[in-house]
Amino acid sequence: MGIDPRHSVLFEPVKIGPVTLPNRFYQVPHCTGMGHALPRTLAAMRGMKAEGGWGAVCTEYCSIHPTSDDQPFPFASMWDDGDLANLAAMADAVHAHGALAGIELWHGGSYVANLASRQPSIGVRSMPSREDPVQSRRMDKADLRAFRQWHLDAAQRAKAAGFDIIYVYPTHGYLVSEFLSRSLNERTDEYGGSLVNRLRLFRELLEETRAAVGDRCAVAVRFAANGHGEGHLCAEEARDVLGLMGHLPDLWDLVINDYYEEMGSSRFYSEGHLEGRIAYARALTGKPVVSVGRFTSPDTMVRQIKTGVLDLIGAARPSIADPFLPAKIREGRYEDIRECIGCNICYAYNYRGSAIRCTQNPTMGEEWRSGWHPERVPAGASGTILVVGAGPAGLEAAHILGKRGYTVTLADAAKEAGGRVSRESRLPGLREWCRVRDYRLQQIGKLPNVSLYLDNRLSAADVREFGADDVLLATGARWRRNGLGRSCPIPIEFPGDALVLTPDDLMDGRVPAGEVLLYDDDHYYLGPVLALLLARQGARVCYATSAARAGEWSKYTGEQDRTQRQMLEAGIEIRCNETLASFDGREITLNCIYTGSAAVQAASALVLVTSREPNDNLYYELVGSEGAQSGARILRIGDCLQPSIIAAAVYSGHKAARELGSVAPSVALRDRVPIQK
Ligand code: ADP
Ligand code: SF4
Repeated sequence: MGIDPRHSVLFEPVKIGPVTLPNRFYQVPHCTGMGHALPRTLAAMRGMKAEGGWGAVCTEYCSIHPTSDDQPFPFASMWDDGDLANLAAMADAVHAHGALAGIELWHGGSYVANLASRQPSIGVRSMPSREDPVQSRRMDKADLRAFRQWHLDAAQRAKAAGFDIIYVYPTHGYLVSEFLSRSLNERTDEYGGSLVNRLRLFRELLEETRAAVGDRCAVAVRFAANGHGEGHLCAEEARDVLGLMGHLPDLWDLVINDYYEEMGSSRFYSEGHLEGRIAYARALTGKPVVSVGRFTSPDTMVRQIKTGVLDLIGAARPSIADPFLPAKIREGRYEDIRECIGCNICYAYNYRGSAIRCTQNPTMGEEWRSGWHPERVPAGASGTILVVGAGPAGLEAAHILGKRGYTVTLADAAKEAGGRVSRESRLPGLREWCRVRDYRLQQIGKLPNVSLYLDNRLSAADVREFGADDVLLATGARWRRNGLGRSCPIPIEFPGDALVLTPDDLMDGRVPAGEVLLYDDDHYYLGPVLALLLARQGARVCYATSAARAGEWSKYTGEQDRTQRQMLEAGIEIRCNETLASFDGREITLNCIYTGSAAVQAASALVLVTSREPNDNLYYELVGSEGAQSGARILRIGDCLQPSIIAAAVYSGHKAARELGSVAPSVALRDRVPIQK
């Protein structure tokens, strides 16, 4: 099937300055945790998106000079000829599939602490960095001249590296946006005061970049359409900026002033949620406009174009979850689209200083080091495989094994497939997570060699009797009922009549009423989400955690502040920095992690979100208590091997299935930068 005429507008070429995009699919700059540190990994990953049909593929934030060093985050850099060579590899990989390559030149200003380069940071005013006890050096005129030269040098290197689109970046609190700020910019010369003066540096960069590279490269600007906040650049001023400078760049890449809303997770924001704040811009600038919105529906994309909101469909996460999204729309293979679930795990791992990974796309980040392709697996395999457990690990394994050619039987004790994904996606805010199940069920449904049997709990005797060549156990894990967890190494004993519940109980429908204390030693989303469920069902909820804030780990997914706000607005009491000591059925004792002092809280029920016990009984019944003997063709995958996030279960199932029977499973190659002589 070819392009559905309803969607053909998405495949029109679009001219931006001197270059022409082959279609309207535009991968906006997004972090990868690869940057300067993993150049081959980066090039292969970006090239894969071009292969999948994205008309433009951009870098992440790319530092122009060592005074802008965001260690420990692996930002990209264009400091020297070594960087030029590494990023040229990315541009080449993108060009190989007919797409344009974009580069987002960046200077962090006061925001960065320059932990690696140890250079003083620079800013319009001396201000503290994001989190280190260091302030920037106030820029004088000589600094301004030097900065403009660095930007020019980086733009020229970018052009030499083959990039087609070069960004000027006055947004997200970085250096150029400091100059735009009413409150930060206290200069009394031509760079401070009026809006025109505050815009001067931005205008100079734009004009100088265009003069230097504009013959061959388009110049793009990433800008917050609703300003940078009242004290900095209010919404009216942002509108004025677009009015005054709208004609200068070739492309406006529009964002909003709240980064955690801009890349908002599906728990808090739906597809296309930026539209209300950016829709005005296109008419004002007269230039092509791109923006994001976690777009996965081609109908929504078309509506954005036809109603004049956007010219290009921008994407970061949808291009991570499915690098082949444009190709699938072009070929009318809508059911094959692997839709982003908006969990922000990709962003979290960049934030953790490592290469991004994706819940939906287990090949993300593995294109170079493991040679994995998101749409192709080694085919021609034969043999029978039994997969026990149809959660994310088992579903992914059965899907990939089926595509490889094996005859696969997938069995699950439950009446529905999906394991934890099905159960959790019924909790507040997690509805989109069921896409992890639905995509895989859809794919399995097309494979005649994969059979799914629900409502089938298998014993060790059943598995043996089945007699498959290989067995993959994806039996998951269950939440512990004894308090064991990162802050409690010794199980707690509760009286038999005390109502102690686990997340599994709540997901089975045992939701207690009255005064409930939920103790969160897990620190991610489940504790806060279950607290919300309890509150919505009428319980008086106290949420206690051993961490400093509610859902502390979700700071990495950009959800922590929304999480805590949502809980407070739901009337949930939040107690932090306390560990659970005891519960007698009526009172719970919590200890302060600093002083050890005890506090008593009345509660008729305790919900424990602490840690999980792998469901590995079946495995040990099959292989014996010593563990697998050589030759035993029984593998554990997913949470029953290592309880973790859903992305890890999908990855585990994918890896096992892709590499089953291979002589040399992939090893973790190091992507070292060649030493420049
Ligand atoms: P993962 O995240 O590793 O995929 P889940 O907990 O989501 O794990 O899924 C595990 C699945 O395994 C559940 O759907 C559960 O019903 C199923 N399961 C566990 N033990 C058995 C068994 N003995 N026979 C069949 N299915 C099982
Ligand atoms: Fe989407 Fe989650 Fe994948 Fe990120 S990790 S692209 S949010 S599915």
